[in-house]
Amino acid sequence: MITLKSQRELDKMRRAGEVVAKVHQRLSELIQPGITTIELDRIAEEIIRSCGAIPSFKGFPCAYGGIDFPGSICTSINDQVIHGIPGNIVLKEGDIVSVDAGAILDGYHGDAARTFPVGKVSEEARALIYHTEEAFRRGMEKAVEGNRVVDISIAIQQYAESQGYSVVRDFVGHGIGTQMHEEPQIPNYKTQERGPRLSNGMTLAIEPMINMGTWQVKVLKDNWTVVTVDGKLSAHYENTIAVTPNGPEILTRLY
Ligand code: MG
Repeated sequence: MITLKSQRELDKMRRAGEVVAKVHQRLSELIQPGITTIELDRIAEEIIRSCGAIPSFKGFPCAYGGIDFPGSICTSINDQVIHGIPGNIVLKEGDIVSVDAGAILDGYHGDAARTFPVGKVSEEARALIYHTEEAFRRGMEKAVEGNRVVDISIAIQQYAESQGYSVVRDFVGHGIGTQMHEEPQIPNYKTQERGPRLSNGMTLAIEPMINMGTWQVKVLKDNWTVVTVDGKLSAHYENTIAVTPNGPEILTRLY
């Protein structure tokens, strides 16, 4: 079922979204060669809890029969696409790290991801990060009442492929609200299904995962970490947005 949010609910989602935006703001300042992903996780959890929110990823059940997710954020390095587990892993110059963060505040979720450069990165890594954010923006522009989900999907895929990249098929964006994953699913590529029509009050997590090489991915033995099968770089950019009469509104931002 797709839920439409009232103004009061959207206000709650803005507040949850701001918590997630604060995490990304702080981590963007801290990410540099030498820091470990478990340190980033600890700081992210501290920020989320200090806002009175709960990290929504922590304890999330595994789709592949593994352990519940142990971190408050996902940290996915280089060829890791999503769902990397924070650990005693030292970031080094030239890496890129995708951070996905989610928080529940007052019963509502915010969910957002960014890919950050670690120190000085290659020109191709920098371009991948830039174009992944741009793919998100192209998709978001289509999140207006009367369009269908597939319009978002097509805009993301066309932009990414026009830049020579591929889009991950196996994982998709989603509706969001009192649940982290609500309907509808939002693929980042064109499917046979056109998807439901968009209405004002819908809240969506739009999240292109863009690969340098093939779109194909696999899950590592930890049952969480998703990597590109060809070992090439991947980037992720996500915001929780609302479909409103004034156009799409990003909820996961600093107010
Ligand atoms: Mg998401």
